[in-house]
Amino acid sequence: MEQYDLVIAGAGPAGSILAKTVGKKFRVLMVEMRNVHAPLGTTREKSCGGMLNTSAQKVLASFGMPLPKEVLQSPQVFTVRAIDYDNHDERYYQKQYVNIDRETFDRWLLAEALMEDGVEIVDNTKVIGFTPHPDYVDVQLRKENGETESVRTRYFVGADGGGSLVRRHLEEKFSGPDEPKYPIQRYVSLQQWFEVEEDLPYYVALFDQKVTDYYSWMIPKNGQVILGAAIPEGKDVRKRFEHLKKRANQSGFNLGEPVKERGAILLRPYGPMSVNLGKGRVFLAGEAAGLISSSSEEGISYAMSSGRELGEALLEGKTPADVEAKYRKGVRHKKWGLAVKSLKAIVMYNPVLRGLVFKTGLLSMDVK
Ligand SMILES: Cc1cc2nc3c(=O)[nH]c(=O)nc-3n(C[C@H](O)[C@H](O)[C@H](O)COP(=O)(O)OP(=O)(O)OC[C@H]3O[C@@H](n4cnc5c(N)ncnc54)[C@H](O)[C@@H]3O)c2cc1C
Repeated sequence: MEQYDLVIAGAGPAGSILAKTVGKKFRVLMVEMRNVHAPLGTTREKSCGGMLNTSAQKVLASFGMPLPKEVLQSPQVFTVRAIDYDNHDERYYQKQYVNIDRETFDRWLLAEALMEDGVEIVDNTKVIGFTPHPDYVDVQLRKENGETESVRTRYFVGADGGGSLVRRHLEEKFSGPDEPKYPIQRYVSLQQWFEVEEDLPYYVALFDQKVTDYYSWMIPKNGQVILGAAIPEGKDVRKRFEHLKKRANQSGFNLGEPVKERGAILLRPYGPMSVNLGKGRVFLAGEAAGLISSSSEEGISYAMSSGRELGEALLEGKTPADVEAKYRKGVRHKKWGLAVKSLKAIVMYNPVLRGLVFKTGLLSMDVK
């Protein structure tokens, strides 16, 4: 059986930065269920707004990784227009996002990881289970042709995103009755793409309780605009989305027939309470660990920075318990950050509190 120092489920931002961090010293196998060698645009892309916030920009800067121009997506805009349909009010806020093409970004990060000598990848291959032992972990894989195989590793990491199988198995199969339960709410994120004659000069955040108790967005992207909403699972998602589109058109956005539609399950975490970093020789990073903002659903920065923290802990830790302690310490300040975002979310998603904040004009900018 093949023996690795580290097997990583998932080649998203968390998996790639983790692999890059340890790749000089560890023998690493990344396992990705998507085809990462297919020409760009031919595979089903991730459901993502593709906005890199300043924290994500800092992680890239700390690795000395400047963004290549093919990752950038036009237009680059620096304002968010927030429309509050519940209170019939609106405000503009300055934001320093970088607008990116998500698939190109993920491929670029992965290529950076694969430049390290110790890192290899198998794609079109799914992690279907794992069995932890005191000294190693056996990871079961299933290839596209249905064949299964097992690999053995010192450490195993689930960087497999919001629907993480690794996390589910850890919590359902390998956790005792006294271990904490981690609450997470499930939403459906629906996005439609529309052709536009002129790029929007801002991003749009839309708040409407008739659509969702979370939020909806519009993002200009390469001659098109994406309209998206995160709607509680089980509610009438389609009807609510159509209501949102009607609202947007009443606001003058002129959205015609969509040219593309994508849906995904989105997990809305409850801040630090939803964070599970794993245990023993099995760890979680990025969205799989619940590291995502509960106010904005931005998760790329958390994915990359937790990948780096875990990588450093794996390199420095002498035992699994030591690795776990170092990882927990490294991520501690992120949990505080998530707590602050949860408080922000309480204000943002409560129509009364949001209405008061809009009235004060706090942190908003004058665009006239
Ligand atoms: C609609 C929407 C819009 C968003 N917009 C933004 C945004 O603008 N900015 C931002 O910062 N964040 C945004 N996010 C959040 C962001 O996309 C995630 O937080 C981020 O991708 C997390 O990175 P990750 O590496 O943890 O997981 P992912 O990027 O999800 O990567 C996980 C990888 O694991 C693979 N995988 C999954 N299961 C298996 C398995 N069993 N075996 C093998 N491989 C597996 C997947 O194919 C995937 O490539 C958005 C999310 C949604 C749903």
